[in-house]
Amino acid sequence: MKKIIIKVNELLIKKFGIPKRNARNPSVLDTLIGTILSQNTNDNNSFKAYQNLKNNFKDWNEVAKLSAAKIEDQIRTAGLGKQKSNAIKKILNELENTESIFLPDAIPQMSNQDALEALTKHEGVGLKTASCVLLFALDRNVCPVDTHVHRTLNRIGIVKTTSPDKTAIIINKNLPEGVAHSFHTNLINLGRDICRPSKPNCSICPLVKVCKYDDKNLTELSEYKRNKFLLLDNL
Ligand code: SF4
Repeated sequence: MKKIIIKVNELLIKKFGIPKRNARNPSVLDTLIGTILSQNTNDNNSFKAYQNLKNNFKDWNEVAKLSAAKIEDQIRTAGLGKQKSNAIKKILNELENTESIFLPDAIPQMSNQDALEALTKHEGVGLKTASCVLLFALDRNVCPVDTHVHRTLNRIGIVKTTSPDKTAIIINKNLPEGVAHSFHTNLINLGRDICRPSKPNCSICPLVKVCKYDDKNLTELSEYKRNKFLLLDNL
């Protein structure tokens, strides 16, 4: 599996380039809250909500003092306000709890497995969100798997799985060193622009020769609009 991951990573870099990284790694809390805000919405909307919290308050301790309803007011543009504000409030409450295993300062000292377990103990933090913290805040070689990454990896034939979490477990057991950021980001670019949920644009896909998908669409080009903005590289 490592060989095909390396090959696919190279082909994606040829098409999309090496994705730019944030000049500084965002903190564990920045990434956790940014990723929670990004659930079920686009990165532009979640970025606006994230900026409201960052620009209107001194730091996360100040946000922690707000009620969930006040947080909800600030993050309205990201949608699912009640669910997301409750999840954020609960995480920020942990800042006060010195017994918590989730103190953001403790996470960077943990192994990947321990950090994933500690983070996913929190309501609203699933494997994808926890993996984003490891990749974007701690620069670990961990590939978060969202719906785009799950769909494209299954179509290409690298995995045959029924859920993003199952894909994440298999892909991360077999991930070559140093590829996580470009592999993850370029699979999202591929899934957003070319390997779309319905009518993939296989005729312009850089993976057309290695992809095992049976229902390739090699004739008609469906609407193709490049959207390069990725929230977690802009926190
Ligand atoms: S060839 Fe088609 S199905 Fe395969 S990865 Fe590319 S766009 Fe997706």
